[in-house]
Amino acid sequence: MLDHGLVEAGKRKILIIEDEPHIVLGLEDALRFEGFEVESRTSGRAGVEAAKVTRPDCILLDLMLPDMNGYQVCETIRRSDAVVPILMLTARSQEADKIRGLDSGADDYVTKPFSVGELVARIRALFRRANRPSELFSFKVGPATVNVAAQVLEKDGEAEKLSFYEVELLKLLYEYAGQPVKREDILERVWGVEGNPSNRSIDNFVVKLRKKLERTPNQPEHILTVYGYGYKLVP
Ligand code: CA
Repeated sequence: MLDHGLVEAGKRKILIIEDEPHIVLGLEDALRFEGFEVESRTSGRAGVEAAKVTRPDCILLDLMLPDMNGYQVCETIRRSDAVVPILMLTARSQEADKIRGLDSGADDYVTKPFSVGELVARIRALFRRANRPSELFSFKVGPATVNVAAQVLEKDGEAEKLSFYEVELLKLLYEYAGQPVKREDILERVWGVEGNPSNRSIDNFVVKLRKKLERTPNQPEHILTVYGYGYKLVP
């Protein structure tokens, strides 16, 4: 299962799950021109099935599909494959949607309309991240070790996959370990969005992260809420 992105020989296979024919055609042409092998499916169910059968190296996933939404598709794929890079294609630009997409297990997103050049650059960045040697950088937080390059959290001998943004959030909090970090700064530095301090998505995101990292997630000892301000990491 960990061979995604590690195989240099042969063409990388990209699975497109998207129901708009002109986008599918445009992406297929452009990605084949870039040297990728491309498969596409036009519904969520067919996409989930293809993800299992064809074992793609990367999945481009539309948010609005006829039968399931992209979040559901993403969560379903993640149940059987924790590592394949998933890039969400979203027509929406609200930060809540982006964060929800990443929360459902996506690695990155692009907002429609996007240029093919931008998309290919994002795909290559996902492959680079997947290719990095895993011992480059890690740090300890309480009972857990966060391996940045591998995007994995190890606790009690068990390894759990972290999303790119979970790693970025932990890195930021670790950089300021022991000091509170403002919600606006977190939104800007981790998600690159203008901070809306009343946004609850970040809280839900932290709740999930605590379940992975904390000994007792509802009585956190390491990722602490600083009320009315933000979060603080106590390693
Ligand atoms: Ca669509």
